[in-house]
Amino acid sequence: MSRKPLIAGNWKMNNTKTETIKFLESFLPKAKGLSVDIVICPPFTNLFVAAEKLEGTDVKLGAQNMHWEDKGAFTGEVSPVMLKEIPCDYVIIGHSERRQYFAETDETVNKKIKSALQHDLLPIVCVGESLAQREEGITMSWIMSQVENALKDISSQELEKIVFAYEPIWAIGTGKTASAADAQEVISAIRKKIAQMYCSDTAEKVRILYGGSVKPENIKELMQEADIDGALVGGASLKPDSFYALCTFN
Ligand code: PEP
Repeated sequence: MSRKPLIAGNWKMNNTKTETIKFLESFLPKAKGLSVDIVICPPFTNLFVAAEKLEGTDVKLGAQNMHWEDKGAFTGEVSPVMLKEIPCDYVIIGHSERRQYFAETDETVNKKIKSALQHDLLPIVCVGESLAQREEGITMSWIMSQVENALKDISSQELEKIVFAYEPIWAIGTGKTASAADAQEVISAIRKKIAQMYCSDTAEKVRILYGGSVKPENIKELMQEADIDGALVGGASLKPDSFYALCTFN
């Protein structure tokens, strides 16, 4: 089974509207006919301008978060209906920074995934262990329970639309990348878990990315692993040249 690689840039709370326009005017003319799927996830305030610039290109747009309800009294939140109208294609769900600083839980992650799918948004679902959990030797059980809880009441047709991102928390924004072998070990275990929960055909179709200090210098090694289907990239996605280098790793 060959899965098309996906490189997604998570800009987090970086880049103003002006900086977004500048980035896309530099990046988009080069990003034509590449052999990977590309997603850019700017802050909410830049989604409209990014959507205008991305129209007619192969680069897809993603949001970094969403609420699970369509509308209502949820001050400061953004709904899937709003994202779809922009139009966004993808939405990152359950990033470790959301889990850590904004009290997201496996339960809210599951609600968001279901809501995203209902609204035809493709979820990029993040899972990952802390350094303390890795040192305690509970990485696998932790990640498997995150995967299991994320997929509660999700059908195999729906699952095929989900992208997972394994992002060890200790590797995010720290400059410490998991070794390619360590990332492969966890990602292949996630695929086996999905095969147990659904079937191996479905598991073979699901793209699972690695995230955590991915940069042009280390992406090739990571992508040589059998189960790593791409990268979710923070810091190195902020500059057009380094993001382009990531998208052309092969
Ligand atoms: C991320 O934000 O998902 C991430 C992996 O960040 P960085 O690449 O900066 O570690």
